[in-house]
Amino acid sequence: MPLKKSEIINLLESKDDKLFQTADEIREKYKGNSVHIRGLIEFTNICRCNCFYCGLRRDNNELERYRLSEDEILDCVQRAVNAGYKTVVLQGGEDMFFDSGKVCSLIKKIKKYDIAVTLSIGERSYEEYKDFKTAGADRYLLRIETTDKNLYAKLHPNMSIDNRIDCLYNLKSSVTKREQA
Ligand code: SF4
Repeated sequence: MPLKKSEIINLLESKDDKLFQTADEIREKYKGNSVHIRGLIEFTNICRCNCFYCGLRRDNNELERYRLSEDEILDCVQRAVNAGYKTVVLQGGEDMFFDSGKVCSLIKKIKKYDIAVTLSIGERSYEEYKDFKTAGADRYLLRIETTDKNLYAKLHPNMSIDNRIDCLYNLKSSVTKREQA
């Protein structure tokens, strides 16, 4: 049963290890005592953004940039499958070379291995999120480093917390609308 807001606040404010204990109980209840390993494929380190804390940031000229080809990515997937992985994560900077068509093509090819696909490729449009889901993507990682608007703006030039939150809502509705269809 989901925790109430007041219960979450109590857990976060508790000085003992109640938070860790509760997290452990929930983990055990839903996932048991096994360890789930994900095959992370860092397929591009090119990024249009300039987040100050990140080595991939656009203005970091010290970094040697790369992009894996589709064949190279699928070769990594094959190795992950051979090693027994049940999930691969396609992770990269916000590299628009990988447009919706390219990402969807990859997702469809990876799904033929009957494994889960997680994407971690940043802020995209609602339509793109919907296309990824339709192509077979199972999960999407989109972190928020801080919800403090001013700090967010300072750390992420030309980005906004509002757009980040919109992306999360778009991800959510691209899934729910598809499931209702
Ligand atoms: S969007 Fe992600 S990969 Fe790109 S600079 Fe920001 S944190 Fe780094």
